[in-house]
Amino acid sequence: MNLSCCLSFSKNLKCCGLLHCLDKFYSGIYIIIEKEVVFFPRIEHIIEKVKSYNPSSNDILLKKAYLFSAMAHEGILRKDGQPYLSHPMNVAYILTELKMDDTGIVAGLLHDTVEDNPVIPLEAIRKSFGNDVAEIVDGVTKIELDILAKAPNSQKEVEIESLRKLIVAMTNDIRVIFVKIADRLHNLRTMEKMPPEKARKKALECLQIFAPIANRLGLGKIKNELEDLAFKYAYPEDYEMIKIALQEKRSYSETFIEDIKIQLKDLIESNGIRGEITGRIKHLYSIYSKLLRQNIDIKEVYDYMAFRILVPEEKDCYAVMGLIHSKWNLIPGRLKDFISNPKENGYKSLHTSVMGPSGQPFEIQIRTYKMHTEAEEGIAAHWKYKDGKYVNEDDEYIQKFRNEIKEILSHSGKDLVSNLKKDLCPKEIYAFTPQGKIIHLPRGATPLDFAYYIHTEVGHHCAGAKVDGKMVPLKTELKSGQRIEIIKNGSVHPSHDWLDIATTARAKTKIKTWLAQNEKLLAVERGKEVFERELRRIKKSPKNISQDPSIIEGLKKAALPDIESLYAEIGYGKIEARAFLKRIFSVEENGNLPIKESDYKKSQPVPVSLGGESDYLFNIAKCCNPVVGDPIKGYFTKGKGLVVHRATCSNIKRLLELYPERAAEVNWTEESKTNIFEIPLFIIVKNRRGMLSNVTLLISKNNADIISCDAKALEKQGTGEKAVIKLKMLVKNKKHLHKIIEELSEIDGVVSISRNAA
Ligand code: MN
Repeated sequence: MNLSCCLSFSKNLKCCGLLHCLDKFYSGIYIIIEKEVVFFPRIEHIIEKVKSYNPSSNDILLKKAYLFSAMAHEGILRKDGQPYLSHPMNVAYILTELKMDDTGIVAGLLHDTVEDNPVIPLEAIRKSFGNDVAEIVDGVTKIELDILAKAPNSQKEVEIESLRKLIVAMTNDIRVIFVKIADRLHNLRTMEKMPPEKARKKALECLQIFAPIANRLGLGKIKNELEDLAFKYAYPEDYEMIKIALQEKRSYSETFIEDIKIQLKDLIESNGIRGEITGRIKHLYSIYSKLLRQNIDIKEVYDYMAFRILVPEEKDCYAVMGLIHSKWNLIPGRLKDFISNPKENGYKSLHTSVMGPSGQPFEIQIRTYKMHTEAEEGIAAHWKYKDGKYVNEDDEYIQKFRNEIKEILSHSGKDLVSNLKKDLCPKEIYAFTPQGKIIHLPRGATPLDFAYYIHTEVGHHCAGAKVDGKMVPLKTELKSGQRIEIIKNGSVHPSHDWLDIATTARAKTKIKTWLAQNEKLLAVERGKEVFERELRRIKKSPKNISQDPSIIEGLKKAALPDIESLYAEIGYGKIEARAFLKRIFSVEENGNLPIKESDYKKSQPVPVSLGGESDYLFNIAKCCNPVVGDPIKGYFTKGKGLVVHRATCSNIKRLLELYPERAAEVNWTEESKTNIFEIPLFIIVKNRRGMLSNVTLLISKNNADIISCDAKALEKQGTGEKAVIKLKMLVKNKKHLHKIIEELSEIDGVVSISRNAA
């Protein structure tokens, strides 16, 4: 034994750092360095701890790792003057508290060897300790170097959140995260000598990244320690403020806690329940979070004391809660049943806050011993070992742990720990672009959703997808960690069935928006199909139809700029293809008037009842111009909503043959009777003087206002010259209209009267 060395080591820790010295002196005891008590675990302590939960652990392997680490860090001191080896030893010791397997402990012992010592390649670790250990050491190093180097300086929640997830997602082996958390915890415990700015940065990383990950894993105890230690370095002034404020209340708090503990004990024991009661001041960071959350001053924080009651069984929890509420008044909104509804990380407990004596509020957590262990140790409380390996046993906690964890656990068989992978966030998955960009998606998302999350245009032209290099159907459910490549094709567009493939609101909204904006395109498509079918029916070829002189003339008369517009009108149900063709081609054959666009395009609203509900205003169809009293039918157009036709209208008959699902049952209402209807009349007369004035005079006599009138001579046919009078008038109802038509037909020279153009 090198006495002088050991003496100097114990005095001021200026150790020679040689292995022989460290190994002999390194006795794993609490020693005092500059008035601080520091724990130096010895490898025997670590082995003993491991054996307590994993009896078949390989202690030769652990010793080998210890020696390897001691050699790698030989002669190196930490900033506070301690031999570097104390760090990996402490990290390994923390890992024993998390009940890690041998691989995890070995990785903890070796975690800084590659980074610290340039002569030790990762391959040396792989050769001596196997692939798993090498991968974990590599992962821990990478998190530090790659990811944290990219850590945003700003504290934007979104960035922090995605960094947190990135760390979890990029980690193929959950043990990487455990080692990293243990590493950070020990760093925080020994950060006194670090320059304040550097300490602050590390502490912020802990608060924003590692404490939430620890929380997600259910490591309650470690999370609290990380938070309180980091709080001190991250926000030193606030930390001091809270500490001082609590110190001022200290003697009051201590008395209060003791008093309530006795009352609680009496309360539950007199009701035959045995339990363990502890009382404490809440941890500083949770008080601080509350100050920030509620934007209140430290003096206004009254709710800083908490009690915990541990009972044998779940039913006792509820019984105790009942007793508490019968003794003290419950503070509304503070009762939380995490037993029936465990937190995402599996946390179970009953929480309640009550108003105590002299208006002092306090919180009480009630849970079973088992729930308590789980709350403190999280997932580590469930790792069980047999023959040195993890075994998956039927465990309630595992059953209750969120689905994906459960899935991983049940598929992992013997070597659970090494198979526990990524994706610890139950509501989200993470997938990667081929460039390695991480995309967060809700669970259940498909490649189509992924495409929309990359970019709207990528979504709109998504023709297919490869998952990890393999083509998959677009409706395949994605899993975390997959690499997704979207195959784009400019000629592909959203369609209605995409709404069934996409599962995310975001993608669905984009698809719907596209469909709405491109409704016209769809109408054109639909209209073209109908029009061409009608053409074939009358033995005309759709080929070059837009060059057909009659069609050109027909479009002009209907004031439609081109054939596309006609298709759109047909697609929207505003123009009936058959009637249009009949008019165009019958002009030549029969000399009938082609109808003008203005005759049927405009419409006026009219009150009707729909499916028994009244007070709807709908447009009336200008092709048939129903008037109150006419039997009517409703039709849902794509563009203009519901349109009311006469039941006998040939257009609606055709439309309903094509789209029967768009029919609507409509009826006139009392209110329709007060409506005035704009009705066109087409009157063929013998072309002679005075005809027009006779017609208009008669209409005026019948108290109908004429709002437009147009007369035109028709081409000479057979017996004599004829003219057409087209007029629009306002009538009250069918009876009114029929009276006018009847009287008009009695005028000498009137050949025919029609409500329709054709
Ligand atoms: Mn380290």
